[in-house]
Amino acid sequence: MNRETKFVHGAFDADPETGAILPPIHQVATYVLPELGKNKGFDYSRAVNPTRQYLERHLALAEGGAHAVAFASGMAAADAATKLLESGDHMVCSDDVYGGVSRLFNQILVKYGLTFTYVNTSDPDAVAAAVRPETKMLWVETPTNPLLKVTDLSAMAEIAAHHKLTFLVDSTFATPVFLRPLELGADIVLHSTTKYLSGHNQLIGGALVMNDDAIAEQMRFMQKSIGAVPSPLDCWMTMLGIKTLHVRMQRHAENAQRVAEFLEEHEKVASVSYPGLSSHPQHEIAAAQMLGFSGMVSFALRGGLDAAEHVMNNLKLFRLAESLGAVESMVTHPATMTHAAVPKMEREARGFSDGLIRLSVGIESADDLIADLKQAISGA
Ligand SMILES: *Cc1c(COP(=O)(O)O)cnc(C)c1O
Repeated sequence: MNRETKFVHGAFDADPETGAILPPIHQVATYVLPELGKNKGFDYSRAVNPTRQYLERHLALAEGGAHAVAFASGMAAADAATKLLESGDHMVCSDDVYGGVSRLFNQILVKYGLTFTYVNTSDPDAVAAAVRPETKMLWVETPTNPLLKVTDLSAMAEIAAHHKLTFLVDSTFATPVFLRPLELGADIVLHSTTKYLSGHNQLIGGALVMNDDAIAEQMRFMQKSIGAVPSPLDCWMTMLGIKTLHVRMQRHAENAQRVAEFLEEHEKVASVSYPGLSSHPQHEIAAAQMLGFSGMVSFALRGGLDAAEHVMNNLKLFRLAESLGAVESMVTHPATMTHAAVPKMEREARGFSDGLIRLSVGIESADDLIADLKQAISGA
């Protein structure tokens, strides 16, 4: 079956009792045992819940992995993955990683004896040079947030295999529609399902997808032991989101391409980052490993921070909001919103200024989105 068919149908056929085409929402904490020492595969919903199980099977099919483990947020999924490490272990991580992920690493996990080196993973030599004897994990985000840098995953997989590193890819921006990290050698794929997978700004969720049985077992153990599990209703809504993922992503990408091309031509715009532009430094890698360039665009104005503030306060269709990946277009100021936890010096070292604007291009009419940008930028 093609991936599109799997997105729509997932792992659910029809309810055996009623024929309902959607699975029920098993809003329940516990399960009655038929007799002591026996159960029907379910004992307590932190450990296992039927609705969560449907979502996990759906996610595994969508990503093309053997197993998926769902969490209450992308950050809970990220935290669970780091539990594969032990005190004394070292991680090599993309430098332009999601702000919440670097906060988890730098402000929490360092207290437990883990160490981190951030490198530009678009440069495989820099990654190989950062590996130490105690390095156990390689954490790559592609495309990155907010600069949309792209990493060559096959090159990373080679380094990871050579040094026996667990190779995780945060594929939140690309989605399974446009990128298949497991096919390119990743051990674990991370999604913030809050974003494109659920797709409608309706919930917070996360997931890990993998082929390896032992990693899956460890992540299930973390899921029930730590307990950062998603509610049955959130699982069900995420499942609905995945059913339309491929259709939405196609439109997100078409609109983002048009918005990026419009911005690149605009005299007041200093720079545009979108992997679908031939001016993007890793455009060729992106074109080779992705099936589309997704819906995120970043840009900076010649007028710097003042001009950026004017634009962000005057956009009408693009809503000023923290998130991304929903049907509604959104605009974010990374320096004061998503990446406020990253010190200014570090932000500048990564290559993004206080004037950087990030767009999550929605599925509205591209003409309307461009008209909105035009009017906001004209006064800047
Ligand atoms: C949002 C996001 C996360 C964190 O996910 P939450 O669902 O907000 O906890 C991690 N990685 C990336 C790339 C994200 O965009």
